[in-house]
Amino acid sequence: MNIEITKTTAPKAVPADESTLGFGRLFADHMFLMNHKNGEWGDPRIVPYENLSLSPACMALHYSQTIFEGLKAYRNQTTGGIQLFRPQENFARLNKSARRMVIPEVPEDFAISALKELIKLDEHWVPHGDGASLYIRPFIFACDPFLGVRPGAEYIFAIITSPSGPYYATGLNPVGIYVEEKYVRAVKGGPGFAKAGGNYAASLAGQIEAQKLGLAQVLWLDGIERKYIEEVGAMNIFFVINGEILTPEPQGSVLEGITRKSVLELCRKWDMKVTERPITIQEIADAYKSGALSEVFGTGTAAVISPVGLLKWGGMDMQINDNKIGEISARLYDTLTGIQYGKIDDDMNWVMSIDN
Ligand SMILES: *Cc1c(COP(=O)(O)O)cnc(C)c1O
Repeated sequence: MNIEITKTTAPKAVPADESTLGFGRLFADHMFLMNHKNGEWGDPRIVPYENLSLSPACMALHYSQTIFEGLKAYRNQTTGGIQLFRPQENFARLNKSARRMVIPEVPEDFAISALKELIKLDEHWVPHGDGASLYIRPFIFACDPFLGVRPGAEYIFAIITSPSGPYYATGLNPVGIYVEEKYVRAVKGGPGFAKAGGNYAASLAGQIEAQKLGLAQVLWLDGIERKYIEEVGAMNIFFVINGEILTPEPQGSVLEGITRKSVLELCRKWDMKVTERPITIQEIADAYKSGALSEVFGTGTAAVISPVGLLKWGGMDMQINDNKIGEISARLYDTLTGIQYGKIDDDMNWVMSIDN
């Protein structure tokens, strides 16, 4: 498929001070669009970033048949080139989400080449500073106007991009996390493993509870017994107990992060003891009391590694590692960001240049 390109006639100014970018509020000049009609994808195009025109009966607005991905374009600090981190994984996961939500799959290699075209056109929107990036948001939604509950007959696949400042503007400060015991995020058999819009709407009430306590994020427990640990808002979770790296084994209700997968691969390469299995919150509390719990960290594209300094479960406040980043968390952060920003050798073959 040939991508038709329409360049903007009114380019926006790129903010000179990258520290003011923040996250997700500013968008680059162009976007990619493609439509699914009569059973096939067609009309792939790059156009100026602008509002979409949708019917108020657009199906996704009513029944949330919508999925998304999140990845970043990084400026290689050694060569100045632009690179992506494991984008094949994101588009494979987009299609996994699509299958669960009865959304037509997109051709993965084509989507990656479209993304590269888009970034080449908006190259000057990729920030230069270490830690800053161009956040990339691919998404697909049912767009035909209809009020009955059925899969959409038409879809839009879009990619928009947003320049973002460094996630850790003031250094890697540990966050406080609230263990949610009332609301649940997902259950086995549900769409928890998919990056599907409705999952995030359903998580907001728990997020508000955490904020009321001055805590940054929610740790979700399993939907049936409120006993097993699942994940954090938009991050997977890891624990270090007696030197062993532990993370919940995904059983369909956890979003399987690409950062999570990369952390597991690195730890195995480093010959660390790594275990994926069901983990109870009680077990974490016991390990904390005995002094065996040395590190807790979240993993996700936005933060990469987010050290957890406080875990609040009911009346119990677990203060982790004196509210400082742990040794393993720091090593993982330095390695992952080192590869993403071209500061260390990519011996895992994770990086893809936008130029080839
Ligand atoms: C996106 C996301 C993650 C992290 O996935 P990455 O691929 O590492 O960015 C974890 N949990 C949820 C719920 C998510 O939406």
